Formats: sequence, C-alpha cells, structure tokens
Amino acid sequence: MAELNFKQELVGCYGYPVAENPTQAMIEPAFRALGLDWRYLTLEVRPEGLKAAVEAARVFGFQGFNCTIPHKVEVIQYLDRLGESAELMGAVNCVVNREGKLVGENTDGKGFVASLEEIDDPAGKSVVIFGAGGAARAISVEMALAGANRISIVNRSEDRGRELTALLNDKVKDRCPELESNFVLWNGNFQIPSDTDIVINATSIGLYPDVDAKLALDSNALTSNMIVADVIPNPPKTQLVKLAASKGCHVIDGLKMLVGQGVIGIEYWTGRIPDASVMRAGLEAVFE
Ligand code: NDP
Repeated sequence: MAELNFKQELVGCYGYPVAENPTQAMIEPAFRALGLDWRYLTLEVRPEGLKAAVEAARVFGFQGFNCTIPHKVEVIQYLDRLGESAELMGAVNCVVNREGKLVGENTDGKGFVASLEEIDDPAGKSVVIFGAGGAARAISVEMALAGANRISIVNRSEDRGRELTALLNDKVKDRCPELESNFVLWNGNFQIPSDTDIVINATSIGLYPDVDAKLALDSNALTSNMIVADVIPNPPKTQLVKLAASKGCHVIDGLKMLVGQGVIGIEYWTGRIPDASVMRAGLEAVFE
C-alpha cells in the first residue's frame, strides 16, 4: 500500500481587504494540473496582525505567500532577506521559503515582462507608462532591467511621478546605464510620441466598477506598430484594450500580467513550471 500523507503544503495571500482577491482561482487549478496536493489560502490579515501572521507562516511551514494591499512594504521588516527587484522597488508581493528563510520577491513586474516577451523583446524599446503607483513602479523597474532604454512616466500627481522617475534615474540606472527616464505631468489628453514602441496603463483607471472610464490620451496617436498593455484584470477588456485592438495594436490584457506573476510565484514555491492556460481559464471562469 502507498504511504499515506494527509499533510498538504501551504501557500496563500495576505491582504486586507482580501475576500475579492481572485488569485486562489488561478493557483489551485495549476497545483491540481501539476499533481501537487498544495493549498492556496486567501487570508485576511489586518495591519496590526501582520507580524504575527509572518511568524505563523514560519510555524506552519508555509512554502511562501503573496502579499497584497496594504502589506507590500510593511512586510519587509519581518522577512529574512530580499531579492534584487524587491530591494530596488522597496515592495514585496511574493514571499518564498528558501530552506527555512523567508525571502521577499517582487513578481508583478516580472510577470508583466514575461507576458510582453511572448510577443517582443523589451531591449532597446521606448516605453510610455501611465501611473506611478505600485504597479507602475514594478513594471518600470523590470522593463529597465530587461533593457528598455527610454521610459516616460505619465502621472496625474506630480510628487509620485517625480519620485518614480528619480528611482529610475538613480538606483535603477546604476544597473542599466543606457536607461533614460522622464516625467510628464498628466493634465489633459496625452499625446503619445510617434516613436513609442510600448504603451502601458498602470493606473487603476477602468477597474470594476468604473468600467467605462477612459485614459485621457489622443487616440489618433495610437498606431498599429505599438504594443498596448493594460494592468486592469477585471474586466480584462477595458476601454483601452478595445481602443488599441480597433487600431490594430498588439494588445496585452491585465489577466496576462496576473497569470505571468502567478507562474513565477508557483515556480519559486514549487520548483515546477505550471500551465499558464489552466491558470488563465481559472481566472476567466471568475471574470467573464
Ligand atoms: P496605486 O494606488 O499604487 O496607484 C494608482 C495609480 O493610478 C496612481 O498613479 C494614480 O495616480 C493613478 N490613478 C488612479 N485613478 C486615476 C485617475 N482617475 N486619473 C489619473 N490617474 C489615476 O495602485 P497600484 O499601482 O497598486 O495598482 C494599479 C492598478 O494595477 C490596480 O487597478 C490593480 O488592480 C492593477 N494591478 C494589476 C496587476 C496584475 O497582475 N494585472 C498587479 C498589480 C496591480 P496618482 O498618483 O495621481 O494618484
């Protein structure tokens, strides 16, 4: 008789609020498809409970966990060390148990770059990014590390936009000497420069329930040689995605990025490469 084992390996997501986070719907089907008896728990962790929750992950022998709002920065003080991207960004969205040490990684931007690399190489490209929050920070740093050589940060609030541009032109440029980054204040219809290769919405514009919200940009400046990406996972067909498709652009929707970072998280935790199509199907069953 085969040896019996009723102990599952555990991973999960720490957030507050967290009940609407759909990550479990893509991770657990991937575990099943890999034949792994693992569980992904959606765990409501209030800010005052974060320290104890990280200790609990150690006590229960979690293989790792995702962090979402509001824990991505605060969690760092409770971890043993950081990976390169998380160190540069100052934010962690994926904690990995490596031989008993909890290591903070950031897979948001890596997931984005992986989905982009399916259609083009970011090296040498000119990129416009709308937004300067957590998603824009993760994407811009990874795009720079992947070799993009011009990154324009277009943001509504000047302070956040300048802070991100300074990070790119300072800490990130040390590792990517070719990088040029500039800030553009977003206070009207933005004119995308004609030599732009990749346009990315990294704001929350278009996120459910504001599904009709549009980015303020001159739509005539979008041309079919551009790649247009949107981080919004719900709904995946945002107004920007629809506009870009109508212009003949290559389009990357927010589910691709979500799946991309999930693939990397599973690889970090299990050492196995999951089936991205199973993960996307799990999310589509939730969102569409
Ligand atoms: P933040 O709150 O950190 O940043 C939000 C950004 O959006 C800021 O730059 C903000 O500008 C801008 N913004 C919001 N509303 C408007 C508006 N009406 N007009 C102009 N700018 C606006 O959020 P995150 O960066 O963490 O997340 C952004 C989005 O990315 C979320 O919708 C999230 O769901 C999505 N996301 C998707 C992921 C995926 O895997 N697909 C992964 C991570 C995030 P300002 O600075 O002026 O306030």
